[in-house]
Amino acid sequence: MKLSGWGRYPLINAKAVSFESEAELPAVLSVAGEWIVHAKGRSYGDSALNQQVITTRRYNKIIAFDPQQGVVECESGVSLAELIDVFLPRGWFLMVTPGTKLISVGGAIAADVHGKNHHSAGCFSSCVLSFQLMSADGRIVHCSPTENRELFLATCGGMGLTGIILTVRLKLQPVKSAYIRETILRCRNLEEVCGAFEQHRAFTYSVAWIDCLAQGSQMGRSILMLGENAETGPRQLPPVRRLSVPVNFPRGCLNRYTVRLFNRIYYGSHPAFVENRLVPLEPFFYPLDRIDNWNRMYGASGFTQYQLVLPKAASFAGLTKILDRIGKAGFGSFLAVLKLFGPENDNYLSFPMEGYTLALDFKIERPLFAFLDELDRIVLDHGGRLYLTKDVRMPAQVFREGYPRLHLFAAVRDKWDKQRKFNSLQSKRLGV
Ligand SMILES: Cc1cc2nc3c(=O)[nH]c(=O)nc-3n(C[C@H](O)[C@H](O)[C@H](O)COP(=O)(O)OP(=O)(O)OC[C@H]3O[C@@H](n4cnc5c(N)ncnc54)[C@H](O)[C@@H]3O)c2cc1C
Repeated sequence: MKLSGWGRYPLINAKAVSFESEAELPAVLSVAGEWIVHAKGRSYGDSALNQQVITTRRYNKIIAFDPQQGVVECESGVSLAELIDVFLPRGWFLMVTPGTKLISVGGAIAADVHGKNHHSAGCFSSCVLSFQLMSADGRIVHCSPTENRELFLATCGGMGLTGIILTVRLKLQPVKSAYIRETILRCRNLEEVCGAFEQHRAFTYSVAWIDCLAQGSQMGRSILMLGENAETGPRQLPPVRRLSVPVNFPRGCLNRYTVRLFNRIYYGSHPAFVENRLVPLEPFFYPLDRIDNWNRMYGASGFTQYQLVLPKAASFAGLTKILDRIGKAGFGSFLAVLKLFGPENDNYLSFPMEGYTLALDFKIERPLFAFLDELDRIVLDHGGRLYLTKDVRMPAQVFREGYPRLHLFAAVRDKWDKQRKFNSLQSKRLGV
């Protein structure tokens, strides 16, 4: 079958095997060659791609729920959307959620995803109590922060390279409603938005859309969105009118001029200040989920997301250089997101570190990768790193410099998968 990540680049031919019970897996793994799990395919690049993939599509049952503790046990193919559908009406929500609910629990652990509350709640792994992992030799290993700790630390953020995550025990947070109290601030430049992130750190959720093409005194102008779980409002989500992008956008539709225009309109369309308005949780957390196939907007050649993080002390200088380079090169991205992360966790390959993260979508076009190589240099010079789950082109050297605990990860892989049964196109490119 044809397979790609969310960026639709690269598009490869792969053999895909699905399973319903873990008992089927040892036979699959005994087949020669490498394997990698491909779950909902919402990672942007090649981390869930290889010539042979195991899909978790049918491995998607909710097994148990403890309403006293808010602990759910489920198979790793269950999506965040399914958990929300079942548990939000009962007053429970995810403790950490990324900007889409259309991903699996396994994908959330393997990328150790973060949400708008990283500064207050950490990564997805902070709500993972334990999971069962099938290692390369077909053994099932129980992992938690205290049992087989090294395997736990390597698997959370380990991009599927330590084994197949099977059943998972997750902690949910109690909520009173399906709504968020949202405050919006328009910030005139990078200095102002960074100051606002710090000033409003007490908010549970924060994220900013940033105009990556604005230059001069307007460089970094942003719309900062802050939120709190609402104390009132229904627990049912209102119905959403779905939209769809039916075909690939023609070549040339997205260019620096259209993006500049979009950015100007988007920035200008927000009032300077909105306080405490009640919004349903879906548009707050998942604004793009209502548009089916929005990834077609970038045309047939696909797109990539470049997500970097810089340590706090170097963030302002580094972001200024990066925005300056983007503005001058004219590679416009209208989906540009800025966020302040809290402290780093102990996992070996998790992405976040305390500081600012910037995520930018770019259409794949010929000079793009050479340009991103230039940005890589700025990121490394400022002590930062790139996010594996968005990546499709990072050179091995950039990966090694950005992830100083890689040797710990490699040691776990040597112990549990010496033959490298689990590999992806990404892991081979990066020489993990
Ligand atoms: C619109 C959009 C918004 C996003 N916003 C955010 C965000 O705010 N924050 C953030 O952190 N991420 C974000 N992401 C990225 C997304 O959350 C991650 O890429 C996530 O890993 C995708 O999960 P998936 O189920 O689609 O997994 P896939 O894309 O299929 O796989 C991703 C990785 O997980 C591994 N994997 C999946 N299941 C298992 C399993 N059962 N066992 C072992 N390995 C497994 C795969 O091998 C692969 O390495 C966003 C993505 C999109 C499309």
